[in-house]
Amino acid sequence: MRAVVYRGPYDVEVAKKKDPAIEHPADAILQVTRAAICGSDLHLLHGLVPDTRVGSTFGHEFTGIVEEVGPAVRALKKGDRVVVPFNIACGACFYCSRNLTACCENSNPNSDVVGGCFGYSHTTGGYDGGQAQYVRVPYADVGPMKIPDDMEDEQVLFLSDILPTGYQAAEMGEIKGGEVVVVFGAGPVGLFTAKSAWLLGAGRVIVVDHVEYRLDFARRYAGVETVNFKKVDDIVMYLKEICGGRGPDVCVDAVGMEAEGSTPHRLLGLKLKMEAGAATVIGWCIDTVRKGGNVSIIGVYGPPWNFVPVGTAMNKGLTLRMNQCNVKRYMPHLLKHIREGRIDAKAIITHRFPLRQAKEAYRIFSDKRDGCVKCVLLPQA
Ligand SMILES: [Zn+2]
Ligand SMILES: [Zn+2]
Repeated sequence: MRAVVYRGPYDVEVAKKKDPAIEHPADAILQVTRAAICGSDLHLLHGLVPDTRVGSTFGHEFTGIVEEVGPAVRALKKGDRVVVPFNIACGACFYCSRNLTACCENSNPNSDVVGGCFGYSHTTGGYDGGQAQYVRVPYADVGPMKIPDDMEDEQVLFLSDILPTGYQAAEMGEIKGGEVVVVFGAGPVGLFTAKSAWLLGAGRVIVVDHVEYRLDFARRYAGVETVNFKKVDDIVMYLKEICGGRGPDVCVDAVGMEAEGSTPHRLLGLKLKMEAGAATVIGWCIDTVRKGGNVSIIGVYGPPWNFVPVGTAMNKGLTLRMNQCNVKRYMPHLLKHIREGRIDAKAIITHRFPLRQAKEAYRIFSDKRDGCVKCVLLPQA
């Protein structure tokens, strides 16, 4: 088959690779029909995720058609169309039985920090991802959700990650009604966080970024106010000021480890690797949110240390919540939102490429060129 293959920092190519095979009775093999490129794939591309091995295939947001199932698989059969959560979860362990599928203790037993994920380095288990013509799906009875016959793949593709991820980010903000919510990051997860904040009853939603076309898109797509942090003197003071002097009730970090906006963090986190990425936005969230408010961290950070102003958070009495998204538990609910027209997830796709042009797709997405919000690869084109 053909697959996106990592060659080293800033370098992917499409190459021939051995077809995946059933390795365990509970596996399925999918023919991939759509595979999105995620903002978090850029952290891999940029060499920031430990143990990203040359030759591995990225891709944790995909739909496919079941090609083959192992003898233990009961819920799927050849020909079923499915969307697959990015978390690989056993469905039976201590964490899975508590709906914390991102923390599964069987899918990545080498780590006590993170569960298994598709296409996300050996830190998360070394599973090949779906930016390929075929992919192996472990625990096939657990993760995949069948796509309703009357729905297209692209309508539900983002149930694999970014829609549930954005929703969980808003949910961790504990929005009960009327809150002022600031979302840092106007990428796909930020957009879905903003949409979800409205659905949960927020009174005001403000999205912060520094790329104008992304802020334009956020205003159109999610009906939010926007702020370009490069156009104000001090983003923290500015946000406090426009939020009644005290600051917003909820701040969401939908940016993660490659944040712009702080030279010291970029130097320490991205150049010298003295902290695990630039924790700029966590600091902004803690400083901006009102006392007693909620900070929700959904942007990706690596497991080791960061320079985070924990004393400020402690003295302000903040609630900090965070996790990789536990995708599975949100799928049915968000499918309903899509089906009933409250969220048009497909509408954030700005670019589609055949798999063979993956290198170009990564470049456009990574450079934030050409109005790119979300890129989808078509492996069968
Ligand atoms: Zn993703
Ligand atoms: Zn588990």
